[in-house]
Amino acid sequence: MSTQTTPSNGDASARTITVVNIMAVSYTGSTWLNLMLGAHPDHFSCGEIDSLRKQRQPTCTLHGPECPVWSRIKVGSDENLFMQIARVTGKRVLIVNNSRHFRADLRHPRIRRCNVLILRDGRGFVASAMNKRPGQSIRQYTQVWRRQTRNRYFRMLLDRECRRHVLHYEDLRDDPEKHLRELCTSFDLSFHPNMLRFSNAQPHFIGGSGGPIYVLARTHGLSTLYYVKDGETEPTPGSIDQTTSSVYARYKDNHGEVIHEELWLKMLTDEHLHQFRRAGGWLNWLLGYPPTMERDTRPRSRRSLRGKAVNFSEH
Ligand SMILES: [Zn+2]
Repeated sequence: MSTQTTPSNGDASARTITVVNIMAVSYTGSTWLNLMLGAHPDHFSCGEIDSLRKQRQPTCTLHGPECPVWSRIKVGSDENLFMQIARVTGKRVLIVNNSRHFRADLRHPRIRRCNVLILRDGRGFVASAMNKRPGQSIRQYTQVWRRQTRNRYFRMLLDRECRRHVLHYEDLRDDPEKHLRELCTSFDLSFHPNMLRFSNAQPHFIGGSGGPIYVLARTHGLSTLYYVKDGETEPTPGSIDQTTSSVYARYKDNHGEVIHEELWLKMLTDEHLHQFRRAGGWLNWLLGYPPTMERDTRPRSRRSLRGKAVNFSEH
């Protein structure tokens, strides 16, 4: 499969472009969502744009510094960052994750901003955080989840000129097509069946979480990933085959689709859940999640964030 993107199109920079900004709490499937939206033939998945502020030259996770797309993007040049990406890729809809540090570039008169807030059951966040970054208490993990949720919600509200859409990770997991269609309708974008398989996205991405990126790379015949570690400015190449075969196998078994596990149902003890309820149960309830250990983890109501204000002040 080709690793080239559409040739540069000068007209793209002269027209209005749309930037879909995924405002994601950690461990909510934001890379997966980004790639699904980017799998539309007219869209481009940029990835974690905020990472660029630490990189001298944008480093594509799949191609490294030699990427045919990102090597042509200059951060800090006179040309607006998003207009550059649109010009180089020839795409008028860009998908980014958490672009807080480039908000000045986003307020360009020819950029239409669409913010999507993706939320998840806080117990799922706590279990994923325990699994990936062990060593903290349940209370500390819960505080991080609470802070991230509150900050992203207010950041979305304070951007008064953007389109907004709130999405629950569990809804997207259970019925991707329905919720992708709703999201596209909110933003006046067209739905395309390619979006139902995230590996249809072009293989260029800044940052990104393991599983979906491994699948994307393998689908496009690539075997090395280039991640820029915290505190470094140059990427460290890593072979997928040597370091991530077990992770890849887990995804491959599901024909390239993400396997979603509710780790918290297995990992969190009654004592963990008690501590979570004390530190963040009120917010979880406000977001529509049931307070008990139920197998059905779908949010129970939309009262929380659709059309009504939520008070996120500390309890
Ligand atoms: Zn690339």
